[in-house]
Amino acid sequence: MSEQAEIGVIGGSGFYSFLDDVTEVTVETPYGPPSDSLFLGKTGGHTVAFLPRHGRGHHLPPHRINYRANMWALRSVGVRQIIAPCAVGGLKPEYGPGTLVVPDQLVDRTKHRRQSFYDGEPLPDGSIPDVLHITFADPYCETGRQASLRAARSHGWEAVDGGTMCVIEGPRFSTRAESRWHAAQGWDVVGMTGHPEAVLARELELCYSSLALVTDLDAGAEAGEGVSHEEVLRVFGENIERVRKVLFDAVRELPATEERGCCCSTALGGQHPGITLP
Ligand SMILES: [Zn+2]
Repeated sequence: MSEQAEIGVIGGSGFYSFLDDVTEVTVETPYGPPSDSLFLGKTGGHTVAFLPRHGRGHHLPPHRINYRANMWALRSVGVRQIIAPCAVGGLKPEYGPGTLVVPDQLVDRTKHRRQSFYDGEPLPDGSIPDVLHITFADPYCETGRQASLRAARSHGWEAVDGGTMCVIEGPRFSTRAESRWHAAQGWDVVGMTGHPEAVLARELELCYSSLALVTDLDAGAEAGEGVSHEEVLRVFGENIERVRKVLFDAVRELPATEERGCCCSTALGGQHPGITLP
């Protein structure tokens, strides 16, 4: 494949549509098709591969996204660092709509998602991945996190440094009881896509960090009707320009692939996983 990128952004056309010379690249993977083509464009001195997480036209709900294919496809074009914007609900009253959170922890409350490449199941080419158990104590790349925090600050947007993202299966939003329970655990925001993206990235030795925009106060933190999809889309739409600026400045701050010094780049600890990574 001739089209190569260094940085991946998992987010839709709102992030790349204004770039000049965007190249659409179709990637096949052993896990089936990713959510969409990759859209490659240049910004901040890096070539960036944008992948619409829910597909063009937003036809894939969170629980039907082929997360393994998405991460494999990004690695296939050369991506080694990913920044993943997403919409989340705030679990604390002070994290209202428009708050930007750069989480440093996550809790997996998903139910039916394939979340490992190394499960011993043969690939179509006959190769068999070993069963591996990777270290995941710190699920996000600290280099990526700091780049996003600095970028936000430079735009006068004081992002929340750290916090726990609870990832639910969806596609429905939480009940009030669930939401109150999540908040009582001390978790900060709730989303539907942050996992297994994070762990699959780590399994492929990719840097991954999240840029979580609060679009609503989840069902437990407010007394009103609860969250609606319209509300989420409206608030995300109102903030996408700001998020895009932060994202692009963060991309500019990321190191070159060969200069990565974080633990993500050696997550397999030199073990051969039994399959050839792209
Ligand atoms: Zn990293």
